[in-house]
Amino acid sequence: MDSQCEKIQNQMADYILGILNQEKVDALKHHISECEQCRAHLQSLEKEKSLLTQFSQNIDAGMDVRCGRAISALSTLKDYTTEKSIWRIIMHKKITKFAAAAVIIVAVLLVISFLDNSVTPAYAVDQTADAIREVKTVYMAGEFYMQGQFECWMKYDGDPDRPTHVWLGRAGHNLCKVCSPAGVFGLNKRTNRVHFALRDERSKDWIFKFGSFFNDIVKKAEKSDSINIDNEIDSSTGKEIIAVLIKTSKREQKFLVDPETKLPLSFSTIRDDNPLEMMKMTLVVKNLTEIRYNELPPEGIFDLPDDAVIVEEEVDCMVDPDSGLIADGMTRQEACLEIAKQTGRALVDLDIETLCKLDLFFRLYPPLIWEQIKTMKENGQWVKEVVIKGEPYQEGELWYVPIEIQGQNGKNEVQNAMIKFYEMEGKTFCFIIGSKEKGVVD
Ligand SMILES: [Zn+2]
Repeated sequence: MDSQCEKIQNQMADYILGILNQEKVDALKHHISECEQCRAHLQSLEKEKSLLTQFSQNIDAGMDVRCGRAISALSTLKDYTTEKSIWRIIMHKKITKFAAAAVIIVAVLLVISFLDNSVTPAYAVDQTADAIREVKTVYMAGEFYMQGQFECWMKYDGDPDRPTHVWLGRAGHNLCKVCSPAGVFGLNKRTNRVHFALRDERSKDWIFKFGSFFNDIVKKAEKSDSINIDNEIDSSTGKEIIAVLIKTSKREQKFLVDPETKLPLSFSTIRDDNPLEMMKMTLVVKNLTEIRYNELPPEGIFDLPDDAVIVEEEVDCMVDPDSGLIADGMTRQEACLEIAKQTGRALVDLDIETLCKLDLFFRLYPPLIWEQIKTMKENGQWVKEVVIKGEPYQEGELWYVPIEIQGQNGKNEVQNAMIKFYEMEGKTFCFIIGSKEKGVVD
């Protein structure tokens, strides 16, 4: 190597770090445009620079603590690194903040990886907990243990356990629930019917505590030392992501974490030996198939629509003209008998679609309950027949039909189906909204 090349190559680290003066930069650029050997040398350094930049971005407050360890570790590294290595050059040159940090991080990582190949460098679960605290909005799509698929938007003002705004909808349902400083309301997107209450539900148990969700699961596992951090390739993007696998005696759960933002991308329950325990609680999350951060929620999603029809009872939100029984051309009595008859038949046949259409109560059943009912029917423990026991009668705005539900097991139960009529889109509909014995669906 001639002396000019040697001089140029000695300046390259400074050039990459941006601390070489312009005159020397020009000379360096001119030389490498003509010298293949120096070009190759620069390329190898630039490759290392991009690695160093990545590592330096992961530097956090713990750096000072690691410094001492890292510097002492440096001496052990000389056998593993090449003469050309950029950190070696930097150590003999001007130390910029970036360079020093990068050197230390590289050194620490190298030491760690020589000692233990299973350690995923530059990630600790604390980083995810910290990152979650900074989140401003979150969109989630997933599954509750008990209530099935859902979508949710939340907005935060510093505390991801206490959202300022919540929008929650269940897949396949027109009804959504919105909590804001103004109150809480259920909105039917199909009818724009709204039931509004002034109470503030934002700190209630049913609100998903996004801030503690990750931490709580991790903490439970930390006691038994069963957190496993690994790398995984995202099949859709081909990118490397961090997988945090958490095992406890009852269940196995996994977070996939974005290596750049350290935020969870998804959450899944892989094994659950005691799902019934989780189903006893309201709205417990089983999976989050999609989590997105800091996006602007859809315009007006937390607001009462301008054309909202305010209704008195929560149940009035649940009804819509795509369901119920059209009562046009019938007397109230005839419609009551007809809806009781059709519901009774659907109950015997376990015709879920009809039951959910005519009887609002059944819309609250999650998929799991339907599975249980199917099993009951197969085992001869379901409804054998529904018999209408008397004439429909009116009390206030509600109508009732006495029915007897006869079980396959010989047990019979008399109930008074509660029926309400609605005018929607120029038609009259009726729905079974509950029973005299069990009250209105809510
Ligand atoms: Zn050269």
